[in-house]
Amino acid sequence: MGKTLTYFFAIFLLIGCKNEEKSTSEPLKTSERPLKKKENFGIVIHGGAGTILKKNMSDSLEDAYKAKLKEAISEGYEILKNGGTSLDAVTHTINLMEDSPLFNAGKGAVFTHEGFNELDASIMDGKTLNAGAVAGVKHIKNPINLARDVMQKSEHVMLYGNGAEEFARSLEYKMMDTSYFYTQNRYESLQRVLEKEKTKEGKQISFEDPFIKNSKFGTVGCAALDKQGNLAAGTSTGGMTNKSWNRIGDAPIIGAGTYANNATCAVSSTGWGEYFIRAVVAYDISAMMEYKGMTLQEAAKEVIQKKVPALGGDGGIVAIDKDGNVAMEFNTAGMYRATMNAEGELIIKIYKEE
Ligand code: ASP
Repeated sequence: MGKTLTYFFAIFLLIGCKNEEKSTSEPLKTSERPLKKKENFGIVIHGGAGTILKKNMSDSLEDAYKAKLKEAISEGYEILKNGGTSLDAVTHTINLMEDSPLFNAGKGAVFTHEGFNELDASIMDGKTLNAGAVAGVKHIKNPINLARDVMQKSEHVMLYGNGAEEFARSLEYKMMDTSYFYTQNRYESLQRVLEKEKTKEGKQISFEDPFIKNSKFGTVGCAALDKQGNLAAGTSTGGMTNKSWNRIGDAPIIGAGTYANNATCAVSSTGWGEYFIRAVVAYDISAMMEYKGMTLQEAAKEVIQKKVPALGGDGGIVAIDKDGNVAMEFNTAGMYRATMNAEGELIIKIYKEE
């Protein structure tokens, strides 16, 4: 009996060693190899939502918008593809759109009632839930950069007006002459509104007036997921044509215009800011995912197609979730938008039906 046991034990040891040998020296067959985790990242941008109709758009203008959206998203995508952070991708992508006169942000911002350009922007880091915002700045070429510096180089979240510009000076930002922000078509939009106001016994025209609704779009925003799994979102705007009394919209308000949380999603909004503030749009989408277990698409739809219109507002969002799913939801006739996934698949669209 003892002998038999020793015999079986020896055989057992031998088989064990053989298997060990196999696992260390023989290469594993493809089918045995543990799957390499697929790299997941993605980016989505908007250039504003509103009454954007094909019949009002020339082919050359449409091409110009699509080319700029393509350039912006491709550069953001490259940053992510090369292992860069979502914060860098968001900042750089927004810079390209801020520098283009096509969009209502940076160069190309709409005019206030008093004939100035007052810029708002915000950014949020989904990893740390840190955020930065500026409002009502008049001499900053790229407000999203200043928002990011508020987040990373100050102990505050939001600065406005002269104070925000003082902070920029302390960081040696170049102060732009206000003429930099002048664009003929935005100026003419304001003049048309002012003319119309004259016929209304000096009363300021409502944001609901089609003149305003049709001349405000072009806010820019971006949401991105990087290879490290970190989400970020940012938004930059000139606000709404004919705004006055230092009106501030949703774009610089964390939770309304911008929100990012690695546990859920990153969101950038565009539309009628007053309603987006009241509906806390960007955070609401994240909260519905977190507390109700909704998908990004379900949550975006609920907020943009139900909650915002129920209040009387309009606009849209772009968003990306922690798994790289993207939403581009809007309740207006159009929204300039584009997205690229980890495979490099590109979608660029303007109108609702496309
Ligand atoms: N949301 C911006 C604001 O209300 C405007 C826009 O996105 O068109 O200031």
